[in-house]
Amino acid sequence: MEAKPKVFGHLLKEVVRAGFCAGCAACVVSCEPGVLGFEREPKILGKCTSCGLCYSVCPQTPTSKSLFEPLTGAQSDPSVGSFKEALSVRSTDEEVLKRCQDGGAVSSLLLSLLEGGHIDGALLMGVGKEPWKPEARLAKTREEILEAAGTKYTRGPLFLPLKNADGFQRLAVVGVPCQVKAVRKIQRGELPYPKLGEKIWLVIGLFCMESFDHSKLGEFLKERMGVSFEEVAKFDIKKGKFICRLKNGESREIEVKALHDCVNPSCFLCTDFTSELADLSVGAVGSPLGRSTVLVRTQRGEEALEILRRSGRAEIKPLADFKPGIEGVKKVAGVKRTSAEKEREKRKEEGKSPSP
Ligand SMILES: Cc1cc2nc3c(=O)[nH]c(=O)nc-3n(C[C@H](O)[C@H](O)[C@H](O)COP(=O)(O)OP(=O)(O)OC[C@H]3O[C@@H](n4cnc5c(N)ncnc54)[C@H](O)[C@@H]3O)c2cc1C
Ligand code: SF4
Ligand code: SF4
Ligand code: SF4
Repeated sequence: MEAKPKVFGHLLKEVVRAGFCAGCAACVVSCEPGVLGFEREPKILGKCTSCGLCYSVCPQTPTSKSLFEPLTGAQSDPSVGSFKEALSVRSTDEEVLKRCQDGGAVSSLLLSLLEGGHIDGALLMGVGKEPWKPEARLAKTREEILEAAGTKYTRGPLFLPLKNADGFQRLAVVGVPCQVKAVRKIQRGELPYPKLGEKIWLVIGLFCMESFDHSKLGEFLKERMGVSFEEVAKFDIKKGKFICRLKNGESREIEVKALHDCVNPSCFLCTDFTSELADLSVGAVGSPLGRSTVLVRTQRGEEALEILRRSGRAEIKPLADFKPGIEGVKKVAGVKRTSAEKEREKRKEEGKSPSP
């Protein structure tokens, strides 16, 4: 007899109540009967049919099936995973450069794909009515892509707009490593959800050391940095410093370590810095200021990069032309992995569940 799949009750106990929920809402949008809602975390609103999809697609539940695509011609490294090419990219689009976080590789890629007709939309993290509060959206115009540019260091339920994705056939998704893992579980996990998975043509993963809780960050800004979300034009993390660039031209900075209590608990156990399951991974580390490091991982990633190259929207150079280059990426990725492994050991010693 086949084992019964684990269902929402298990997800609640093993992930949500245990403090491992990454708040992505992948479970909510994969629930075919639509009985899950989301308010900071998933909750049940109706009768569960025990299909097991919510448990299966969650990035925080175990998976026995390999989510990695077999790659030919790729280099592999224990800290950053497999990649075919490492590049350093800077957009040539002035509007992108004004609004992007680093070199604008992500927005330029999306614009070249959208305007060339290769995708019909992109699932992105913009901001809602409240200043700096992340709110996901399905962007289908240049302006909507530009509006979502720039890093929000707090997290939000990225997948919620997929509830209304019926009109889309070929999407790009941009997300941090835990969100990228959810996409791959939707596409090829134990219990995949092809209705959504088949719509996703490209997965762009961001590098991610940690994310913060929005309300805790708001308090921290007020108490420790003397600013409010409303006053901030751009947040940045560079060389161990958390920087607020203010609308009045001033800037304030503090050691990232000081924000320890604002970090979302699931991040302390997270080992993936570079979005190892993405088609293309993008971050700041490795390249000089004003450029984005891009790791091309899959054939789809190569295809997308070639479209960007042909569009002339970006200056694309080998990462090897710059310092610290790939060694810098490996170093930071190694630090994150080691720290998460230590945290897991510590939890085991304390008799707590190390992770689901
Ligand atoms: C929480 C977080 C932590 C990060 N930590 C690091 C780090 O430690 N080291 C490092 O090198 N890089 C880190 N990055 C990545 C970096 O900040 C840039 O996003 C990346 O370099 C791409 O820059 P860009 O100019 O090419 O992107 P842009 O053209 O500015 O586009 C940025 C894209 O990021 C997406 N995005 C913004 N905020 C979020 C969010 N909260 N969740 C999901 N998607 C989002 C938007 O949809 C947008 O399309 C982090 C990103 C996030 C979101
Ligand atoms: S119906 Fe399926 S996806 Fe929805 S809550 Fe129940 S087990 Fe989860
Ligand atoms: S799928 Fe995302 S929102 Fe749902 S329980 Fe898992 S981490 Fe939390
Ligand atoms: S550190 Fe890991 S769990 Fe935290 S936001 Fe980044 S990818 Fe998600």
